[in-house]
Amino acid sequence: MSPASIPPHCDVAIIGAGPAGSSAAALLARAGVDTVVLERDRHPRPMVGESLIPHFWKYTDLTGASAKIEQQGFVAKAGAITVWEGGIHRIAFSDFGFQRPALHVERDCFDHLLLQHAEACGARIFQEVAATRVDANGGSPRLYYRDRRGSSPALGEIKCRYLIDASGASTLVARQSRSKRLAQSRHQFLSFWGYFDNARFLAGDGRGYPFLALGEKAPVTFVLSYEDGWIWHIPLRRKTSVGLVIYRGKAGKKGPRERLRYFLETCRKTPYLRELLQDAAFIGDSLGGRPDFSYHVEALCRENIYCIGDAGGFVDPIFSHGVLNAFYSAVLAALAIQESLKDRSRRQRYAQICEAKIRQFYSFSRALALGDFDVNGVDVNLIKRFMRALPEPELELMLAASHMTRRSQHFRAMLATSGLAELTGGIVDKARTLEHLIV
Ligand SMILES: Cc1cc2nc3c(=O)[nH]c(=O)nc-3n(C[C@H](O)[C@H](O)[C@H](O)COP(=O)(O)OP(=O)(O)OC[C@H]3O[C@@H](n4cnc5c(N)ncnc54)[C@H](O)[C@@H]3O)c2cc1C
Repeated sequence: MSPASIPPHCDVAIIGAGPAGSSAAALLARAGVDTVVLERDRHPRPMVGESLIPHFWKYTDLTGASAKIEQQGFVAKAGAITVWEGGIHRIAFSDFGFQRPALHVERDCFDHLLLQHAEACGARIFQEVAATRVDANGGSPRLYYRDRRGSSPALGEIKCRYLIDASGASTLVARQSRSKRLAQSRHQFLSFWGYFDNARFLAGDGRGYPFLALGEKAPVTFVLSYEDGWIWHIPLRRKTSVGLVIYRGKAGKKGPRERLRYFLETCRKTPYLRELLQDAAFIGDSLGGRPDFSYHVEALCRENIYCIGDAGGFVDPIFSHGVLNAFYSAVLAALAIQESLKDRSRRQRYAQICEAKIRQFYSFSRALALGDFDVNGVDVNLIKRFMRALPEPELELMLAASHMTRRSQHFRAMLATSGLAELTGGIVDKARTLEHLIV
């Protein structure tokens, strides 16, 4: 059977079917907007970023994907524990009044589910079709692509009224328009990660349990600092994800063999992690890597082009804001485009509002994760406005999270001097200190 043909025009063309692209597609298609998505790979495709914080559900409620996620039976987690420069902290999500659980998800499965949901909502999705270039001159953007589905690649183009770049770290539009900016060198990181069978896990009581106990005890996301950066340990349904986020200056140049050696050596020698992995087996060939984060994009939204999710910026993933940002920016872009389709004369204004809101979230994440603002696209006033608008449990969770590493001192200092202290006055810090862990 020959592959379905890609239409020559549509209302909205989306590059990439990760959480950002699929969510925007689902929302637009549900609103009756003719939406086409081009996805370079074929799902399920591997992806890093498995820890989701509890308020992600409000976005999947909007897209209509929540019930499908619930049916999957992903691992529900109890909270997070950090061992950061010797101090141990724990947060329990139950302390914040969230009604639904935070999850650890296999991203190949999770992202595939979101893609299928977008398709079920009416979006037309073409996999193994890579966008190659965007031409935004003139009123209607043109998207050029390479279709790899047939026996030989075919080139084509789509004309659309609005274009969404949700191409993730590929940042297609930003690279093309040269508006991608890497963070200052002291905030540049890279990451290696891999998977283990039969690793023990930490539960909210600060004790280690065998992998088989996952059904009975809810795990936490476990984060540790070490001399070259920090480490995550995330139990999934059948395996455990372990990753290193390394300061670029400390990483040096490493070939594949050295990378693997460094990764396994770090796992073997880091206290607590080494005990959790003592009887675990590394899954061969599972080592992945990502260079070049963090970055931001200077022109996020123009009157007919929107850059969302990682295509608009990326922050060190320590507080699991990546997928949340993908969902949030997808909702904003879908709304702005729907309104622009109704009233074309206001489309520039809608794009500006969308851009300001995406930037607010980015600034907030960045200040929290890196203690860094007034530089690298981060604006203190935007952060304050964003925080004032947050529902109390979310604000409280983020404040508690800011105690868990030494990354957020500036963030907390900003709170104290910005008048936000009164806003947070009634909120008790819920990042509890633990004396030790029994792994
Ligand atoms: C090391 C690391 C750890 C992380 N941990 C977490 C975590 O624990 N929790 C969390 O919430 N986030 C985490 N993140 C961030 C999270 O993975 C991302 O923020 C999230 O995947 C962004 O979603 P997205 O849809 O914007 O992009 P992606 O998920 O990257 O999706 C982009 C899609 O676009 C497709 N694409 C790319 N180029 C093209 C093209 N030219 N044409 C067509 N399609 C294209 C890709 O194939 C892909 O499917 C982590 C990230 C890293 C690097």
